[in-house]
Amino acid sequence: MSDKLLFTPGPLTTSATVKQAMLRDLGSRDLEFMQVVREVRAGLVQVADASPDEYTAVIQQGSGTFGVESVLTTAVPPDGKLLVAANGAYGQRMAQMARVARVPLEVLTFPEEGPVDPQAIARALAADPGITQVAVVHCETTTGLFNPVAEIARVCAAGGPREALPSGGRSEAEPPQRPRQLIVDAMSSFGAVPLPVGALGLDYVVSSANKCIEGVPGFSFAVCKKSALAKTKGWARSLSLDLHAQWRGLEETGQFRFTPPTHALLAFHRALAELAAEGGVEGRAARYRRNREICLAAMRKLGIQEFLAPELQGWIITSFRYPPHPRFDFPRLYETLSARGYVLYPGKVSNADCFRIGHIGRIDAAQTEGMVRAMEEVLREMGVIA
Ligand SMILES: *Cc1c(COP(=O)(O)O)cnc(C)c1O
Repeated sequence: MSDKLLFTPGPLTTSATVKQAMLRDLGSRDLEFMQVVREVRAGLVQVADASPDEYTAVIQQGSGTFGVESVLTTAVPPDGKLLVAANGAYGQRMAQMARVARVPLEVLTFPEEGPVDPQAIARALAADPGITQVAVVHCETTTGLFNPVAEIARVCAAGGPREALPSGGRSEAEPPQRPRQLIVDAMSSFGAVPLPVGALGLDYVVSSANKCIEGVPGFSFAVCKKSALAKTKGWARSLSLDLHAQWRGLEETGQFRFTPPTHALLAFHRALAELAAEGGVEGRAARYRRNREICLAAMRKLGIQEFLAPELQGWIITSFRYPPHPRFDFPRLYETLSARGYVLYPGKVSNADCFRIGHIGRIDAAQTEGMVRAMEEVLREMGVIA
């Protein structure tokens, strides 16, 4: 019997060949395993569209959250301050990480139905010269919206006034600008939404094994600007999540500091090859966009409304509002569709009842059509549509 198809934000449906690649037991010091790690790290810099001279990929055990936490708690200097621009649950989670680690923090909160505003970030940077890093989510998986990372990168590069000049100083002169670093949670977009990390000069871009690269859960990774990461020695607020130490370990010994997720890395190595075979980021984006088109067209026909305005909608995941019908029952829809082999995902929008359908993972157009047909049947049985 085949597994259910996962129309979720992860873990996702993976190919049989990715799963088969895990059926090995390699030791952590095995030369073959160390070669896999080297190739995976190099492959990630390539997917990020960055130069291996300027960028490196650091793998971190644990789910995506561990990777973001590793970056946030290592990259911000002891006397630094983080600005989080949030328009959903994953942005708010970054703010929470900073609070837990007692990293000085400012949060700009935007409505979930719209993008983060780069000009508001520019104003916050101008107002507070103490801010050293900005963090933002690329695809906010709460809604499926893509935030304008390129514009935010320009704002961060332009910086803001350095320090307030002492009175009697050159007060009429333009204050010197200081660039701020940008940390991007690209968890649900990396590998399926083009993001030219090198050209944009992004400092840290984080994602995980079980999202759009279509590997299995077990680790996250950060594509890091070497010149930024090299300065962070001793800044980590945690031993296991010390990104700099993890990097130095991988560089100097080729090994992880603590038990590596060997099976997940074997699967991921294969998943990267399958991404390349599909035409890289563009090829994968094309399949996901097609899944989304089929899903959206069918849902609109059924009268189910999307949460976001169409022009803001990305192709990773879509949030749909509960149909305002007294017989609509999401737990029942979920259970009935799941019994038919299709797994949906609950909503996370804070001010509206929504559920989500993912378009990512090893799922194609025919399988998406199967899901929306089943959805129509279930909604009819429920009495929500005629
Ligand atoms: C999936 C996801 C995460 C990480 O979630 P984990 O459950 O820790 O893997 C973080 N940010 C975004 C935007 C995500 O989609």
